[in-house]
Amino acid sequence: VTRIGILEVQGAFLEHKVALQKACSSGYTKNTVEIMSIRNASDIKPEMDGLIIPGGESTTISLFLRRNKMEEPLRDWIHKKHHVTWGTCAGMILLSKQMEHQKEGGQPTLGILDTDVSRNFFGRQVASFESTIEVHDDVMSCSSQKEPFNGVFIRAPAVLEVYNPEVTVLGKLHRPEKNDDVIVAIRQENVLATAFHPELTADIRWHVYFLQMVENYKRRSNNTS
Ligand code: GLN
Repeated sequence: VTRIGILEVQGAFLEHKVALQKACSSGYTKNTVEIMSIRNASDIKPEMDGLIIPGGESTTISLFLRRNKMEEPLRDWIHKKHHVTWGTCAGMILLSKQMEHQKEGGQPTLGILDTDVSRNFFGRQVASFESTIEVHDDVMSCSSQKEPFNGVFIRAPAVLEVYNPEVTVLGKLHRPEKNDDVIVAIRQENVLATAFHPELTADIRWHVYFLQMVENYKRRSNNTS
């Protein structure tokens, strides 16, 4: 059984549970999943294989983590080579090191990913939109679905800068009106981050991809220990 912790502070965490269960029964992953609710430091258990930091409001979540002395235990858990973490939206912000953009907003983050993320990249007022995004084949092949992935963006962040060659871009949003491509999904080794909310769609490809990552890292650590 694969143990997935979900940080249940605020935001879309229930939807992640449902999506994980659905991904499990898809046949595209061998995992059976046990969900663990993370609400305080003692919930962060070494036997957890994966962790999801959901969307919500990153300042609220980071204040909660600070107040409950969860930052260090979370960082220690995430840094373990056989653990896999996924941050969606606010979760992406919290995982980023924010080298340049610490000024913008200036909230403390867990500082894991070698990236700069803009908190409200698409603007605060244009709160939400949906758009198909260009997704890496590794993720696209995670279900029998062949249609393009539809990203749900809610006051979404975006990756402005990547400082580490280990970072793989997994998703890009093309904006014809600006003629640019915005990075909206990345992976740095055992950490995945998406600016959009796959848990708010019926599309399970990102959840399957995450569970496959968890499976791979778990298998690797079992082989070396
Ligand atoms: N932009 C939000 C923030 O700063 C994140 C929004 C989301 O998670 N849907 O926290």
